[in-house]
Amino acid sequence: MQLIEHLYDLDMKAFAEDLGERRRRMVERDIASRGVADERVLKAMRIVPRERFLPAEMAEFAYEDTPLPIEEGQTISQPMIVAVMAEAAGLDERSQVLEIGAGSGYGAAVLSRIAAEVWTIERHALLADQAARRLADLGYDNAHVIHGDGTLGLPEQAPFDAIVVTAGGPSVPEALIEQLVEGGRLVIPVGPETRGQRLLRVRRVGDDTVEEDLGPVRFVPLVGSQGWQPSGERTLVVPRPRSMPSGPATLVREEAQPMSSIEDAELGGLLDRIGDHPVVMLGEASHGTSEFYRLRARITRELILHKGFTAVAVEADHPDAARIDAWVRHRPASGPDFEPFSRFPTWMWRNREVRDFVDWLHLHNADVGAERRVSFHGLDIYSLYTSRAAVIDYLDGVDPEAAALARHRYGCLSPWQHDPATYGRAVVTGSFIGCEDEVVGVLTDLLRRRLELGPGPGRGSGEEYFDATQNALVVANAERYYRIMYHGSRASWNLRDQHMFETLKAIRLRRGPAAGVPAKVVVWEHNSHVGDASATEMGARGEHNVGMLARREYGEGAFLVGFGTHDGVVAAASDWGGPMERKPIRPSHPDSYERLCHDTGIPAFFLHLRHAHREELRDELSRPRLERAIGVIYRPETELQSHYFQASLPRQFDEYIWFDRSSPIHPLAAHEVAGVPDTYPFGL
Ligand code: SAH
Repeated sequence: MQLIEHLYDLDMKAFAEDLGERRRRMVERDIASRGVADERVLKAMRIVPRERFLPAEMAEFAYEDTPLPIEEGQTISQPMIVAVMAEAAGLDERSQVLEIGAGSGYGAAVLSRIAAEVWTIERHALLADQAARRLADLGYDNAHVIHGDGTLGLPEQAPFDAIVVTAGGPSVPEALIEQLVEGGRLVIPVGPETRGQRLLRVRRVGDDTVEEDLGPVRFVPLVGSQGWQPSGERTLVVPRPRSMPSGPATLVREEAQPMSSIEDAELGGLLDRIGDHPVVMLGEASHGTSEFYRLRARITRELILHKGFTAVAVEADHPDAARIDAWVRHRPASGPDFEPFSRFPTWMWRNREVRDFVDWLHLHNADVGAERRVSFHGLDIYSLYTSRAAVIDYLDGVDPEAAALARHRYGCLSPWQHDPATYGRAVVTGSFIGCEDEVVGVLTDLLRRRLELGPGPGRGSGEEYFDATQNALVVANAERYYRIMYHGSRASWNLRDQHMFETLKAIRLRRGPAAGVPAKVVVWEHNSHVGDASATEMGARGEHNVGMLARREYGEGAFLVGFGTHDGVVAAASDWGGPMERKPIRPSHPDSYERLCHDTGIPAFFLHLRHAHREELRDELSRPRLERAIGVIYRPETELQSHYFQASLPRQFDEYIWFDRSSPIHPLAAHEVAGVPDTYPFGL
């Protein structure tokens, strides 16, 4: 969940950058360096403010080299493709040009900065009006917008030196060839509806034509009397020039193992691939998608039943998860009185999906001996105050003198109880010396006195001692976390994931089948924690995470599973601390892994990546693409900036699990847990 905040911070900086500067940078990075050489075209691209042709809420994405949705289900073309087409049209300052498909008006604006006169035709009245207004506002008065069917051309202004068509038709419209001058160029995408389009340049030579194929592209349909019938129109397609659009999706489709339903999904293949690896990390692309939780539960049950996994560790607070642990292992709940999972975001663990899994664990454990019961743990760092109370509570029971000392030391943190972040600020600004010595003191005392306080004859199995040391570790690391937060998000992110990984290691040792033999553990955390950070933007920023640390330590022994979705609804808040909402997810970005998976047309599937059957799949997917991360906060208004990052999927995960459509998790209301025993973790 913190990643999202963090990405958000970075974006604010990007936002503030001067748009002109970003435009120039895009032209160099995405256009000039990728083969467009015509100086006239590059100059025009550097002049035209693309943000003026976008709906206001999209303006911030103007200088991403990507198509974007506009009104009427249409798209504004990718800048690179606008440049490629303008170059192919071979224009100079004397050219008379016809464009078909004005859309936003951006393409016409670019053409008008090169040619003498530009006419552009648009079949949607609203778009035509809007484009005309934008061009006029910019003073581009050599660009004229006409509302109508462009497949018939514009006989009254013909002939043209060049005609550029920005929508894909089934064939080259005859009328357009006839409206070219001798030697004139028609640049047009042609092909079966949206798949398999090719960009053609057709040159008129006498009564003949010479055709050149400029490569595969993907455009919205050209709808008109010499184009597609209106009924065939699809609104969600977006131009995907340059790369072979259908290639990778076809590869994924061929390699994917479709899933019928969560309950009946055939898991044999996945379990074989997991083999004997002792650490399986199951991610999620949002904290509020029911399908992710339910399939993780199903996989975890299989791992427990058939592969000897004995612990589940999740991205939750330690003391809260300890309540679940007590319930599932049929032990009395210990520790101070508090209401578990009452901290924002409450729905992340207090939900029906988790409850069903927890109840399964409770029943499963009832049938096995106490030592083989599967345990449940929280890995996170955010429970400074409940962990502090748990340590004191434990010491009160075993050594009142040590408890008094711990109470005194921990008292140092009391003034900031309601807002630990202000503690960090006080220390960083020098107005307060801090509590580092105190919190570390409690932890080291506990560890030093292991022989007196830990497991041993007369002191039981040491569960309570283990719990107390874990809580003392949380307090010590959380104290540091709130302090270094002020030195930047990278340091605090790394500390948090380091803490989670150390906790995982401690759990493995504690829960192992014999002394020195670590347990097999299933981990549930967000993709941003379990996917190897070195394969994403995070790595480039110097961030690590649990998945990356696990790979470093266990090599192939850590099996990392990512999850993804295209659209649907997610349970998330709009702001930190805000209420849970059911928010529609925007369809995935055209340049994302998610879109690629969506394009397979398979609603749910498993995709094996570590030893993919076909090398091409790994090669094709390794090329970085966008990937979406929704945390407990979802901000669709700024989705590209707030939720997408670059990643290389096959390096990030060993397996990827796809659900095309997300449905929101079901938060638990009071009546749904009424009547359960007092020890029940979700009691109210
Ligand atoms: N050049 C545009 C790209 C717009 S997408 C830009 O840079 O924004 C293609 C546009 O072609 C859509 O707006 C669509 O409505 C329009 N279009 C499709 N068929 C058409 C036709 N027969 N005549 C005119 N416009 C058409």
